[in-house]
Order: sequence, then C-alpha cells, then structure tokens
Amino acid sequence: MSGFSFVQGLRCVGCGRDYAIETGRHTCPSCGPLLGTLDLTYNYRDLAAALVPAALRARQDATIWRYHELLPIRDPLAVPRVPVGLTPLYLFDGDLDFPVPRALWLKDDTRHPSGSAKDRATAVGIANAREVGAKGIAAASTGNAASSLALFAAREALPCLIFVPAAAPAAKLAQIRAHGATCLAVDGNYDQAFELCAEVSRRHGYYNRSTAVNPYLGEGKKTIALEIWEQLGFRIPDVVVVPVGDGCILGGVHKGFRDLREAGLVQGLPRLIGIQADGSAALARAWQAGKDRCDPVEARTVADSLAVSMPRDQMKALRAVRETNGAFLTVSDDEILRALSLLAARCGIFVEPAAAAALEGLRRGLEEGAISPAEEVTILLTGHGLKDIEAACRASAWNEPLPIAPEVGAVEAALEARARELGTARLP
Ligand SMILES: *Cc1c(COP(=O)(O)O)cnc(C)c1O
Ligand SMILES: [Zn+2]
Repeated sequence: MSGFSFVQGLRCVGCGRDYAIETGRHTCPSCGPLLGTLDLTYNYRDLAAALVPAALRARQDATIWRYHELLPIRDPLAVPRVPVGLTPLYLFDGDLDFPVPRALWLKDDTRHPSGSAKDRATAVGIANAREVGAKGIAAASTGNAASSLALFAAREALPCLIFVPAAAPAAKLAQIRAHGATCLAVDGNYDQAFELCAEVSRRHGYYNRSTAVNPYLGEGKKTIALEIWEQLGFRIPDVVVVPVGDGCILGGVHKGFRDLREAGLVQGLPRLIGIQADGSAALARAWQAGKDRCDPVEARTVADSLAVSMPRDQMKALRAVRETNGAFLTVSDDEILRALSLLAARCGIFVEPAAAAALEGLRRGLEEGAISPAEEVTILLTGHGLKDIEAACRASAWNEPLPIAPEVGAVEAALEARARELGTARLP
C-alpha cells in the first residue's frame, strides 16, 4: 500500500506477542480482553523522517489526518469527511482562585463537531470500519461516544445502532436522536447493553465502537499528544492532566507521546496525571494500592462521562501513569462544579463536569505536590458545557439573574447592589 500509513502490526500489552493487522484482532487471545489489550506498532525509523517539523509545518490539513503516517488506516479513501482535531491550545495567563503554574495550557477539545474528544476516536474507528467492510456501526453508551458516533454515521450515511442502557443525559440523547441513529432503550444495566451490542454487532457485521479495548479508538485519542507536541513548537510539557473514566483517553495520550519518543522526535515523556471523580475512582484506588487491576466500584458522580464501574482500558491507563512517573488523583462533585464555574467565568471556556475535573485535578496536584508550580502543565478539556445544562446551572447557582422593574433606575440600583455583594466598589 502507499506511504499513507506506516502501521506495522498489533502488540499485546500483557505478553508482548505480535499479531498481524490482517487478523483484525482487538485483544490477545491468550491474555483475554481485560489484560490483553493491544498496541498498534509502526515503522518508527521511516516515521522519524516523515514527521520532521518542516514537513509538518508545510501541511495544509488542519485535522488529525495531518499525522496520517502515525495513524493505523492504510486506505486514504476510508477516512471520514467530518473534520476532527487540531483544537486550540491556549496559554492561560489570567487569575484563578489558586496560584497557577509557570505555564498553563488549556487544550480545548470541546471544539469538536459533536462537542467532545470522542470525535477523535470515532474518526479512526469509522475509517477502520470502512476498511474491514462493516455494514454499519454500533455502540452501547448514553454519552459522548454515542452522540459522536451518531454524527459521523449521519455524515457517512452508515446505519447506526445505539444501545442506551439507563436514563441518559438529555443533551447527549438529543444529539443521538437528532442525527437519526436507531436508539434501542435496553431494559437492563450498562453491562447488559454492552454485551448485547457486542453480540448483535458480531452477528450482523456491525463495527462495535463501544469497546474501549478497541486499539483503533486509542490511536484516535493519541492525536491529542501529537497536537500538543506540534502546537508547543515541537516540544512536550512537563505534565499533562487528563480526566479519566475507562482510561482510553489517558492510554491514548500516553501512546501518542511514546510513539513520538520511539521515532526519536522527542526525548522523555510528560508526567501523566489521571483525574477521577471520588464516586468513580476504580483506577485511582488500584494505583494507590499498587495493584495491577481494578476492583469494580459503584460509579456515582456528577461527571457522567467519568462514571465507570469497571474501566475497560485499565491496563493502558495504569501503564500510562506508572511509566511516566505520574499519579492518579480524585476530586469531589462539589469541587468539580466549582472548577466548571471557574473555567467558564475566568477562562472563558464552557465545559461539562468531566472536563472541569481536570482543572480541579490541577489544583489538587499543586496542593499535594504531585505538580510543582515551576512546571509547564497542559490540561485536557474534553467535553462542551452544553452537554449538561443541569450541571452548569448548579455550578452557576452563585449567579442568579437579578429581578428588576423595566426602568433604568432599577438597573443602576441592581448593579450597585451586585457590586457591593461582589466586594468591588462598582461594576465597570
Ligand atoms: C469519555 C470522556 C472522558 C473519559 O475518557 P475515558 O477514555 O473513558 O477515560 C472524559 N471526558 C469526556 C467529556 C468524555 O466524553
Ligand atoms: Zn497477550
């Protein structure tokens, strides 16, 4: 095939065994689906020459496909048309309610077609589905993975089945329905919906996007690392803070930096700090206890995108933190909502609770010493605020609309009262 992709094969994270791409495997048969997730490998020698800064700077493609040699899709015609990636990386030099580190970068992945970082994984998943000749695509999810998949399926005119387990957040369900996906409301729990989706996909030749163990999805997520590297002028920050549910984003970001290092394009890796919600902290618990795998938890958190009882990509997530000398930290729902408000009111970025957890994780990391104020830090903002209006309203309870009579005097009186309340002399 052409030089479009330098992909070479699949390697088991557990036992290191190699498999050919043509096997179509997503997991290692001897290690099983939890311990035997696979990494895609590349011809790193050729990559070093293809991805030099001058070559990348000359590229016009403002999507993840500008890194096509380092993505696992061999057929350029399989690439979906929905533009994904190259989201802004802002330097934040304003004030927060805690001292910010030497340099704080906000990677704004809310700016994606479906409003979340899931579009990166879906783009590569859809391309892979095309390559393997899938008849349609399916996912078991109430959240961003499903709303992303529904959008791509609409644009690519692919049949799309979404298995919705329980009560879904209204905005995400609205997206799934609006894009015309067939929505199957399963009378059962998430695991049942997950199994049902896998079985129906197998039987009917559908591509299953719900599995966080699918290595192609992680390859989509890894483009976050490639973009940070390019946007910082072909260097890496000291620390990257990532909100974590299944661990697919964290594992993917790690893979991106590892691939760059393997190709000799960077030295070393950033420390990766995974942030979980107190009420959904299976990975943080396993890491703190020095265990190699997670015990299931009863997931309950305002950050629905982080609510996972048994993280499906746990091997890669634990490896990401261990190999980079990083950490897992947990944050409470109240702290997440406060961070959501801080990001919106001080940074001008409106995020859903899962993304706000990253900012709170930064604060916690600085407080506990996992992050030093002298370091350069990038935090990952993964999902848009309009995804969860109820949480946004709760986070903004401090800012009630001011009831006034329709008169200028009433406006002025209300503004003065508000200025006194906020402790400033007056509003500008
Ligand atoms: C899915 C998701 C996450 C967590 O990603 P995992 O790969 O499950 O760890 C974080 N934030 C948002 C907005 C998400 O949609
Ligand atoms: Zn194996």
